[in-house]
Amino acid sequence: MAQSVVPHVRVAIVGSGFAGIGLAVSLKRDGIEDFVILERAKDVGGTWRDNSYPGCACDVESQLYSFSFAQNPSWTRSFAPYHEIYAYLRRVSDEYGIRKHVRFDHNLTHSRWDDREQRWEIETSSGPYTADILVGAMGPLSDPKLPNIPGLSSFKGKLFHSAQWDHEYDLTGRKVAVIGTGASAIQFVPAIQPKVGSLVLFQRTPAWVVPRVDRAISGAEQRLYKLFPVAQRAMRALTFMRRESYIAGFRRPAVMRVVQKLAVKHLESQIQDSTLRAKLTPNFTLGCKRLLLSNTYYPALAQPNVNVATQSVTEVRDHSVVTADGVEHEVDTIILGTGFQVTDMPFATYVHDSAGRSLADHWDGSPQAHLGTMVAGFPNLFLMLGPNTGLGHTSIVLMAESQMTMVMNAIRTLNKTGSASIEPSVTAQVRFNAEIQKRLAPTVWNQGGCASWYLDKNGRNSTLWPDSTPAFRRATATLQLNDYVLTEKREPSVSGIRDLKRSAA
Ligand code: NAP
Repeated sequence: MAQSVVPHVRVAIVGSGFAGIGLAVSLKRDGIEDFVILERAKDVGGTWRDNSYPGCACDVESQLYSFSFAQNPSWTRSFAPYHEIYAYLRRVSDEYGIRKHVRFDHNLTHSRWDDREQRWEIETSSGPYTADILVGAMGPLSDPKLPNIPGLSSFKGKLFHSAQWDHEYDLTGRKVAVIGTGASAIQFVPAIQPKVGSLVLFQRTPAWVVPRVDRAISGAEQRLYKLFPVAQRAMRALTFMRRESYIAGFRRPAVMRVVQKLAVKHLESQIQDSTLRAKLTPNFTLGCKRLLLSNTYYPALAQPNVNVATQSVTEVRDHSVVTADGVEHEVDTIILGTGFQVTDMPFATYVHDSAGRSLADHWDGSPQAHLGTMVAGFPNLFLMLGPNTGLGHTSIVLMAESQMTMVMNAIRTLNKTGSASIEPSVTAQVRFNAEIQKRLAPTVWNQGGCASWYLDKNGRNSTLWPDSTPAFRRATATLQLNDYVLTEKREPSVSGIRDLKRSAA
């Protein structure tokens, strides 16, 4: 009977968004071609492939929300729309020869560190792999979070999440319910409001919204950047420095209370109706939840076809949404702007240590890693944009690039020492996380008086990095060998040798 061949690779990356593509470029720069990217969809692009809702755009300037090594002189706005970012990621993949490494329609379903063979066993929807190194690069915004509202799944009208927008469905004249008022909803609500018949916005918590200082980038400016990349690098540097200065505010709630006055002015200047204004006024310190940027959100809410409902949603019936005050809102469409599974990401349930215990089980609701990237007990596992690498003040791509350096340093260490695996010591991981939690304690994210997805189910801030991005770059620039456990290579077992021979054949 013919034996099936399980492909073996040096590195398996899960996800082809910003982090996956960036790491793939780093591997290739180091001459590593023996890697695959396991991608569950049919194209690269990650969250920028999936999120295509009307009005979707980045809320960090594109000069900075892009790879340092692949500047794009053709951004048409300071905050580029999603399709330009998606096109950019596809272009980078093509230019750096990444696409041939991507295995599309490969959804990770299970993986386990095999301590005997010193490699990862990986199961995907399109078959198994083994890999020396496993990298989770799915990012925090990959799995939509659906609210647990009774009756939602049996709603008889149209229902979809903002990250799975149905562009075939015409919203013209529809009676639409939108649940959620986060960064996604505040972008798509103004985009659909002129089209729909009526819109009820179910708001659980009002958010702080500040003006969006966006501008078109003229053809002349784009040509300048093409001819003189140094000019674009200078623009990027200025944006970088301005954004880094914001971290001071997030670390001091008192500063944020001053900035809050600008947000109050923004609200007052755009909403004349005092009842609506009261509904939209947050009761927590600005910055505690993600700060939202928009010039069009409030004006859209002031339109006669919009109703902001502040009572909590208790039930969905066949053709309506019911709130706690007993009011039944008749609708034919429900759009969920309810965010993503960030601190309970499914990836953690698929990845297991050598004893078969999942990462989610280790974490018990509070994700933690060493430098947000490596986890004690999980050899040769790297998490791109892992725990406590999120940011409230600037571009997450800066964090991903620092992690790329860290992963490459670890791989070079493995190669140089001839070791089979590397993982952080428990001591280093515990020390790092204690320090991070100490530094998060006084920040507005922890002290601002809000419930946000930055905090996990245990109330611990498992998502944010409490410092500047240069501080993270310094922390990840060199591998402090004392903080890691390197394991020597063992002789492969007989079955391991057979597998290796088969995969080399
Ligand atoms: P989000 O910020 O997590 O917001 C989810 C919204 O849904 C919140 O308003 C939440 O209310 C509400 N919600 C959840 N369950 C609910 C329920 N059962 N009943 C009523 N309301 C409910 O999600 P998001 O807007 O998709 O944004 C997620 C993240 O994506 C952002 O923070 C940002 O990092 C990123 N993003 C970025 C951009 C960009 O421009 N770069 C654009 C969009 C999104 P509560 O506030 O009360 O929890």
